[in-house]
Amino acid sequence: MNVTVWNEFFEERKYPSVSSVYPDGLHTVLRQALAEQLGPGTGVRVALQEEPEHGLGQDVLDDTDVLLWWGHLKQDEVSDEVVERVRRRVLDGMGLLILHSAIESKVAKALLGTSCRITGWRHGDSELLWTILPGHEIVAGVPNPVVIPHGEMYGEPLDIPAPDELVFISSYEGGEVLRSGCAWHRGRGRVFFFAPGHEEAPIYFQPEIRRVLANAVRWAAPPAQPQPRLTRQGEWPAKWWVPA
Ligand code: ZN
Repeated sequence: MNVTVWNEFFEERKYPSVSSVYPDGLHTVLRQALAEQLGPGTGVRVALQEEPEHGLGQDVLDDTDVLLWWGHLKQDEVSDEVVERVRRRVLDGMGLLILHSAIESKVAKALLGTSCRITGWRHGDSELLWTILPGHEIVAGVPNPVVIPHGEMYGEPLDIPAPDELVFISSYEGGEVLRSGCAWHRGRGRVFFFAPGHEEAPIYFQPEIRRVLANAVRWAAPPAQPQPRLTRQGEWPAKWWVPA
């Protein structure tokens, strides 16, 4: 399996409150987390917004089973051409993990079809991440709830389509709640939004959060999907309707 971690990589070089937590960038920590969790059978590469084609040429996407996407302040500068390339690749079977503020990214909007706006935010709140779907592959081995001492409150309504599977709901110190782990099927691909991951707190260092990310990568990876076999081009097998 091949995983690509995509990062805007802006705030980690601009704001001390972020660089003190992620001096080498969020992508470096995410890559380490996935390599550690998924083992040597999985290749984890990094792509950055500043690279040509944002590091996501067609060859890279064709060789990616699951793409993780972290973006925030520079999301509007992502090229529409690359967004369309990612969208098509998801419809063709690539998994996509939309992380934290990337819910408002062009890629998320292109695949989910709504504004993906959150209603308000607040830094520093403690967060409880509640499992809503016990038995789902993404929650395997994850404590319920997961306690995040300092995160970021995102408020509902969050303008997303109703998830095909609502995996987590978060509650915050201020009393707000959020659908914080949402899964969708888009074409042959799987999409998962995971809200925790605020850049000023070491959330991606938390073992329970790393576990969720690794589970989500496994869930989103494309399974073998055989095409229907046609006897002649454009026709169903001649006797498909005959009872056995
Ligand atoms: Zn944030």
